[in-house]
Amino acid sequence: MNNKYPIHSIGRLRMGTDGEGIRTLVFLSGCPLRCKYCFNPATWDGSKEPKMMTAEEVYSKIRIDRPYILATNGGITFGGGEPLSYPDLINEIRSICEPEMTIYAETSLNVSWVNIEKTADSIDKYYVDIKATDPEIYKAYTGGTLDIALDNLVKLIQRKGADSVVVRIPEIEGFVDVEKQEESRDFLHNMGVRRFNLFKYKV
Ligand code: SF4
Repeated sequence: MNNKYPIHSIGRLRMGTDGEGIRTLVFLSGCPLRCKYCFNPATWDGSKEPKMMTAEEVYSKIRIDRPYILATNGGITFGGGEPLSYPDLINEIRSICEPEMTIYAETSLNVSWVNIEKTADSIDKYYVDIKATDPEIYKAYTGGTLDIALDNLVKLIQRKGADSVVVRIPEIEGFVDVEKQEESRDFLHNMGVRRFNLFKYKV
């Protein structure tokens, strides 16, 4: 439990953006993708040195807000960057936090399935960013391979159930218009996704 993990920042007392109740958002550094309009490039572009912290040190920051988190059925959300690059941190936090706290992850799912499987019992809900289901648009926008994310999405729904997965599909100027956004939703619905969040991404 003395492993250290690269923490970009920790956002306390968040409401309405990262899941139910009052939540602490733990931003991890590092991401396998390079989205054109990344909302948090400082997690991977070297402009901010991450702080190396143990799970216990991270949880000591979360514990401060324990009464508010528990009173609102809130919890911890891991974001980034790509939090599923650090499965051991998520599992260690699960093992030391109150069982009533929910653990959510904001992820592209563009990671090894091994990492997803390893954390599946620790995470209650996933917010999955699928920028587009057209492989060329996905590649052009993220620099990554769509198949990896979609294969993992199918396996995740089988493993955790469709209710545990919310897929976020942004409208992105110059890449994804409303028509493409709706095409993506229909495509993913046919794959078994049942919960969506469609929104306009402000570049
Ligand atoms: S997946 Fe998220 S953190 Fe990674 S490059 Fe894209 S927007 Fe940025």
